[in-house]
Amino acid sequence: MEKISLVWLKRDLRCEDHEPLSEAIKSGLPILLLFVFEPSLIAAPQSDSRHWRFVLQSIQDMNKTLFPFGGKVTTLFGEVPKIIEHLTEKYDIRSVYSHQETGIKITYDRDKFVSTLLKDKSIPWFEFSQQGVERGRKNRERWNNYWFAHVKSKIQNPDFLSASFIQIEKSIESKFDSKPFLKSLGSANPLMQPGGTLNGKKYLESFFKDRVKNYSRHISKPELSRRSCSRLSPYFAWGCLSIRQVFQHAEVEVTKGKNLQAIANFQSRLHWHCHFIQKFEMECSMEFGSINRGFEKFQNKANPIVIEAWEKGETGIPIVDACMRCLIQTGYLNFRMRAMLVSFLTHHLSQYWKVGSNHLARMFLDFEPGIHYPQLQMQAGVTGINTVRIYNPIKQSQDHDPDGIFIKKWVPELSEIPSNLIHKPWELSEMEQQLFRVKIGLNYPKPIVSIEMEGALARESIWAAQKDPEVLKEAKRILAKHTNSKRWS
Ligand SMILES: Cc1cc2nc3c(=O)[nH]c(=O)nc-3n(C[C@H](O)[C@H](O)[C@H](O)COP(=O)(O)OP(=O)(O)OC[C@H]3O[C@@H](n4cnc5c(N)ncnc54)[C@H](O)[C@@H]3O)c2cc1C
Repeated sequence: MEKISLVWLKRDLRCEDHEPLSEAIKSGLPILLLFVFEPSLIAAPQSDSRHWRFVLQSIQDMNKTLFPFGGKVTTLFGEVPKIIEHLTEKYDIRSVYSHQETGIKITYDRDKFVSTLLKDKSIPWFEFSQQGVERGRKNRERWNNYWFAHVKSKIQNPDFLSASFIQIEKSIESKFDSKPFLKSLGSANPLMQPGGTLNGKKYLESFFKDRVKNYSRHISKPELSRRSCSRLSPYFAWGCLSIRQVFQHAEVEVTKGKNLQAIANFQSRLHWHCHFIQKFEMECSMEFGSINRGFEKFQNKANPIVIEAWEKGETGIPIVDACMRCLIQTGYLNFRMRAMLVSFLTHHLSQYWKVGSNHLARMFLDFEPGIHYPQLQMQAGVTGINTVRIYNPIKQSQDHDPDGIFIKKWVPELSEIPSNLIHKPWELSEMEQQLFRVKIGLNYPKPIVSIEMEGALARESIWAAQKDPEVLKEAKRILAKHTNSKRWS
């Protein structure tokens, strides 16, 4: 049997700064570069075809880079342990190389299973950490130092000139044929960002060339932030770019002496990215319940009617509906509007954060479990350690979309309403509704909730919950485990 090294790709779909690939090449053995489309993961409630289309585009992009070196990513469809079993019947796998994944329970269980399987077969599995996220940490002591050391360390570019690749045996390829699944994904949606390192780099370059100048000024604006934010999140989430690469790119930009505050703000967000993933790595039960367990008893009964209205963008609150419809269509929303959607669901509609979690995960093209769960819970106010912000959607709308440009784009029913009236269309008189060709309750819903009343009630119940002894006890535990008194040490 042919001796090979197996490089198992997951959320690290790039050819640059790739330690597992780099180390596998150093082994000197021919490499099988593998990505597996896993039915169990595809069926997960957090998964959407937009994610898999992005993955496919990213693999196609990798293949362009690998082609001159005779390389190609093999894609198979099936469960990883079963595929490994079959591979070991055909190849003498000397080692497996991959990045550690801070993922959902399905990938965590799969990794444990694979680990046992490889141990049984005496195949060493080299797993590399990335993003400055450290496995097995008990607290945050000196984590900032660890992170900075990582992002400033040497980029691990594979030496493809000394690599040799194998193409997988036809019998295995046809047994785990990925083509039917890939075909089922259909064509790309032009409203969504396309996958791949090349596209990621285009966003990176255009950001620093021009867009960065408005980064801090427009960051909260739903329309303007689409241009002024970096838009790198899906490229990080699926690994088309590494955090280290981008951090170092930003360091070079700093030396040019322009937009320094904006670049510093951007770099601090790269730090947040990894900070949240580290938190989830250390407490992955957050996928299923509040990090502060004291809050679990305060859950309200789910109301499917309001949840459906929220999911579809039919709540009757224009900015909320515009945000949700835009997210459904494009897979992207800026931070503040994501936070507002969660705040509206959990505070104004009094729903437990979990009822909206999978929908948002499916809609975010950049779904990253390590950011998603901690952010969702922070915005829902169930950590007990963060200041709770209840975003008033009308104020957000007036402050950040004053002319209603974003609203009119995504809620065309309201497009004829003048900007000063668009934030609260339920206040329009019958005559105004006729004039602006909208009938509230008929072609645009009446608000499903009173913002002022529910906001006040939510504030009261959050304050009361925060005094609960179990919440306070948990808050102490969370502070000790997940925070570092010396920030940016
Ligand atoms: C409820 C909720 C869920 C979220 N889920 C995700 C998610 O699944 N995946 C995801 O990448 N981001 C998530 N975020 C964080 C944030 O909204 C996005 O990272 C950001 O909007 C992406 O846009 P950008 O790349 O243009 O960001 P930029 O502002 O250009 O920032 C650069 C990078 O820094 C990181 N970053 C920026 N803001 C944050 C933040 N607040 N927390 C952590 N990292 C940040 C991202 O990697 C981002 O690409 C979530 C926020 C909220 C409120």
